[in-house]
Amino acid sequence: MSKTIAIIPAGGSGQRMGLPRPKQFYELAGRPILVHTLQAFQDSKSIDEIIVVAPADYLSEVETMVATYALDRVSKVVAGGVTRQDSVRAGVNAAGAGAGYVAVHDGARPFISPELIEACVLRAQETGAALAAVPVRDTLKTVTDEDLVVNTVDRSVLWQAQTPQVVRLDLLQDAYRVSDADGFIGTDEASLLEHVNCPVRVVEGSERNFKITRPEDLRIAEALLMNDSPPDNKKISRIGHGYDAHRLVADRPLVLGGVTIPHALGLLGHSDADVLTHALCDAILGAIGEGDIGAHFPDTDPQYKGADSLQLLARVMEIAAEKGYGLGNGDITVIAQKPKLAPHFPAMRAKIAKVCGVSEGMINLKGTTTEKMGFAGREEGIAAHAVVSVLPSSG
Ligand code: MG
Repeated sequence: MSKTIAIIPAGGSGQRMGLPRPKQFYELAGRPILVHTLQAFQDSKSIDEIIVVAPADYLSEVETMVATYALDRVSKVVAGGVTRQDSVRAGVNAAGAGAGYVAVHDGARPFISPELIEACVLRAQETGAALAAVPVRDTLKTVTDEDLVVNTVDRSVLWQAQTPQVVRLDLLQDAYRVSDADGFIGTDEASLLEHVNCPVRVVEGSERNFKITRPEDLRIAEALLMNDSPPDNKKISRIGHGYDAHRLVADRPLVLGGVTIPHALGLLGHSDADVLTHALCDAILGAIGEGDIGAHFPDTDPQYKGADSLQLLARVMEIAAEKGYGLGNGDITVIAQKPKLAPHFPAMRAKIAKVCGVSEGMINLKGTTTEKMGFAGREEGIAAHAVVSVLPSSG
């Protein structure tokens, strides 16, 4: 069984991009563009070996890349020539005996899929040569040097060539011989085959399989990759919101932010009914995607009867730490007609910051009345809102 060898020219300077290095060596989503490309060939069933053709001064860099990303189908990394045609030929010459087909693919087309590779290889096996291409979608104009439109070109027969371009090796070698004799330089492998009247078939490619050529292509590529893979939850900060309200009754202490405040009325609840701390717990649980306080500390559970809500907050922080998060900052608003809360904020802030493992500056407390409107205004209850950010724990 003859082998199908992928030949990946990764030459080209970064000049068109205004970059000091060839574009294939720039990173997309944390991996070099070339590695994205090679991975698709590594994952393709129909590819037996991969030969990378790189500028002579980048050979060791490519070899390190291949080792780092365990691209074990890469059998050789060889130096390229001045033109693309020379580089591909260097790759073809490096293919050993047993090579039946070569699949040439631009290193700067990182969105090639293993499926499209398979389709091109299959079609070449049936017909001798096949390339990926997409039908032209825009209306095409012939334009003079003076920006004058001459006419509209019939686009129904026009396709934009992409890669892979897969060809039976002996057909390509014949095309090289004739092209050399004629002094013909093609822009791609298919044009060499066309030059010798060798039929080439088209496999419909994908608009995603574009070549990274211009600086804006890098940004488009980044956006596509972002869309493909949701951001790693462990690497981003998250936010959460919590809200709670408790009824004010006689003969209960008023506990807010772990501080007992002298007042004629206190909050009713299964625990100490610390509405401020409950809102904060819910905000943190919300930020880490862990539901709400009722799910973790059910009010049907006798162990939480009269519980100190700061201990619930400590447990919430443990849950956050188990998921790899710590508190960033918290902003909490308490809605109460009476009593005045501001004098108690420093004590509350100190307790909350300590439990949450942050400096006091990361906890902001605010109080507001509702100008006697609603349940808080009628002193039937007290409510609290909390908004927090959580950050991935270091280490
Ligand atoms: Mg509550």
